[in-house]
Amino acid sequence: MQLAVPEPVREVCRVLAQAGHEAVTVGGAVRDALLGRPVSDWDVATSAHPEEVVKLFKKTIPTGLQHGTVTVVVQREHVEVTTFRGEGAYSDARRPDSVTFGVPLVEDLARRDLTVNAIAYDPEKQQLVDPFGGQRDIEARLLRAVGDPVARFTEDGLRVMRAVRFCAQLEFELEPATEAGIVAALPSLARVSRERVHDELVKLLSARQPSRGLVPAVRTGIIASVLPALGRVDAERVDRAARRVRLAALLAPLSDDETLPHVLDRPLQKRVAEILRALKFSNEDIDQASTLVAVSHAPRAAAWEPAEVRRLLSQLARDHREPAIELWESAAEPNHVLVQTAQRVLGDPLATGDLAVTGKDLMDALQMKPGPAIGRMLAMLLQRVIDDPSRNTRETLLAEAQTLELEVGR
Ligand code: ATP
Ligand code: MG
Repeated sequence: MQLAVPEPVREVCRVLAQAGHEAVTVGGAVRDALLGRPVSDWDVATSAHPEEVVKLFKKTIPTGLQHGTVTVVVQREHVEVTTFRGEGAYSDARRPDSVTFGVPLVEDLARRDLTVNAIAYDPEKQQLVDPFGGQRDIEARLLRAVGDPVARFTEDGLRVMRAVRFCAQLEFELEPATEAGIVAALPSLARVSRERVHDELVKLLSARQPSRGLVPAVRTGIIASVLPALGRVDAERVDRAARRVRLAALLAPLSDDETLPHVLDRPLQKRVAEILRALKFSNEDIDQASTLVAVSHAPRAAAWEPAEVRRLLSQLARDHREPAIELWESAAEPNHVLVQTAQRVLGDPLATGDLAVTGKDLMDALQMKPGPAIGRMLAMLLQRVIDDPSRNTRETLLAEAQTLELEVGR
């Protein structure tokens, strides 16, 4: 069996082997190469201790010495080299209490999560080391825990997230005993850092078909653990949704009870923002997804007049308007009137900045002083332009401003 290991990685293995150590590539790279998927990082595992690795190469970076990881720089490439290690007991469901170096390769493979991730490849001998049947599982497209699933998922709760993420990413199925192990080990997931849960969820959602991971994640209770407020998941909708709106598509059922489809639901927006903040999403992601969920029920209104659509869109930041349309489009039966009207009015004036007059124009024409009254005036003019975009001319708006000024006073 010959895998296309890049030259810098081969060189690292060669140097280690010539010094009398075992050196193999392991993990995701071997798995992906066997699958014919693009490989991002080739990791090297070796019997050499970290200090020996440092001595053998001109340039190294002590990336994670306590875990036995050294980054070796060869041919300008960075190669991560980790010493074979065994792990002691896990008492906190996050990290092992102790790590031992100097164990044989099989023991290093035995601590890995899934059989497909526990295959090593020796690029010199062109040999696979596969003590747990990883190749057989790749063949059958199955994700199987290495060893006893309940024990392995319990000692590190992140593994259950990884398992469903790989279901989506690799388009594999969970082997039945492995799936049963997830259910039994769910309490461990609650103890994993939300940053890491976030990263796995994001990877799952960016797969070609997230449903391949979401369906088992729902079935095993992972979603109920990670997103307890979410009553149901429409996995097919998430698949249909454009990638940038998939998080919103996942959370859209939070608007199931919504009764005012023409309105951006601020309380719901806030609730969604809190859920996503707890899951460590970025402010930008929170902003977009919470806003989109808060308008996700809009298609429920039967008829949409252009002015109503403009009014709803005007409440969204410019960057959120097209994503909102994409989210509406991802529904099982999209409201075509809403979608088409929204696409049509996107170019209409929807913010005070789009008006044919500026605050300065108003101050000059009406001899108004700077202050909040100017902002209020612009907002009122915008509402009129939303009702009828043909009013968006300098003349019309200045005339309207004059009447408004008489009506509301200064
Ligand atoms: P990808 O890099 O595509 O996300 P990967 O399988 O390479 O997937 P990494 O996080 O890069 O994942 O980890 C490299 C290897 O380390 C894995 O293939 C697996 O063998 C092992 N590993 C990673 N995380 C865990 C874990 N939580 N428990 C056990 N083994 C793990
Ligand atoms: Mg990797």
